Amino acid sequence: MKAVQYREIGKGPEVVDIEVPEPAAGQIRLKVTAAGLCHSDWFLMDLAEDQYTYGLPLTLGHEGTGVVDKLGDGVEGITVGDPYAIYGPWGCGQCHECSQGRENYCPYAADLGIAPPGLGAPGAMAEYVIVDDRRHLVPLGDLDPVEAVSLTDAGLTPYHAIAAAQHKLYPGSVSVVMGIGGLGHVGIQIIRAISAATVIAVDISDEKLELAKEVGAHHTVISSAEAADRIRELTGGLGAQTVFDFAGVQPTIDLAKAVVAIDGFVHIVGIGGGVMTAGFFATPFGAAVRAPYWGSRSELIEVLDLARTGAVSVHVERYGFDDAVTAYRRLHEGEIRGRAVIVP
Ligand code: NAD
Ligand code: ZN
Repeated sequence: MKAVQYREIGKGPEVVDIEVPEPAAGQIRLKVTAAGLCHSDWFLMDLAEDQYTYGLPLTLGHEGTGVVDKLGDGVEGITVGDPYAIYGPWGCGQCHECSQGRENYCPYAADLGIAPPGLGAPGAMAEYVIVDDRRHLVPLGDLDPVEAVSLTDAGLTPYHAIAAAQHKLYPGSVSVVMGIGGLGHVGIQIIRAISAATVIAVDISDEKLELAKEVGAHHTVISSAEAADRIRELTGGLGAQTVFDFAGVQPTIDLAKAVVAIDGFVHIVGIGGGVMTAGFFATPFGAAVRAPYWGSRSELIEVLDLARTGAVSVHVERYGFDDAVTAYRRLHEGEIRGRAVIVP
């Protein structure tokens, strides 16, 4: 089968031919209907050899949808041919966090050698993918897989970050969203769908700010030395009650710190390597800084339901397997509008 793999440090993604995997006991094989590209794929492909821990070769794709193709021994209650989305942050399934569906915060997964598909385990950027357990599948129902696939990460991750700050998204409050890429453009729609907050979008690119307007941002601010003053002006000097940073680079983190309001929330979602110092004399009274990771299984169900209402939709650029390397290059150069999705 065709697959997109990262095979050699520093060489980027490659399209290869590999064996179709067989599901072991308890596992499910999906025939992939769509797989999304995430900037986190570049995070790991840009790592130096001594920092890279995801195994080689690695089949990419931590956003995946598919139809059930073959069941491993003992799998019941699931029907061949039914469409599913993959819940990616796999945990042990037994601990306190996993028992709440918050497998993204399983403290045992790493020690047990459990890794998400595409981030350690073979991912969905292939004709077939193995899902280790039935609980990691969420029914897709009538959603179009190509349009829905990125809700498993570019939807779920912002949803998880935003839901945790929901009480700060009151009418009259201001939310700053930074980095209007795959995650950010869905994040804006989620804030608009679940709150009456005013949204200020920040990016370095005019095209991304146009997309931000299209998906519901009230104001747009280009990321620059003047951005903090402009946001202060737009908030009547108070700053923003919530800041969601979907870039996580030093300039956006510095901006987050400069514009967060008293008792406000900063959620650093992007993994661009920036760092914020927080403390009594460093951040406004009561301000909270958090770096959330992915989301829970029930939140994935909620994001898919939000998409069913029509309130949230992913702007998708479609690519075939043979164009996967081009799609990844465009993602690296910041040229993707919304999310790039591989359609087998
Ligand atoms: P993307 O490439 O689609 O979007 C990134 C956006 O950030 C682009 O629009 C880019 O123009 C913008 N940007 C870059 N530098 C900027 C700056 N200085 N100021 C303002 N905007 C800037 O990436 P994505 O797939 O949406 O991922 C976003 C980030 O989130 C990445 O770092 C990714 O690795 C990370 N991520 C984190 C989690 C998590 O669980 N915490 C999950 C998925 C992705
Ligand atoms: Zn991701």
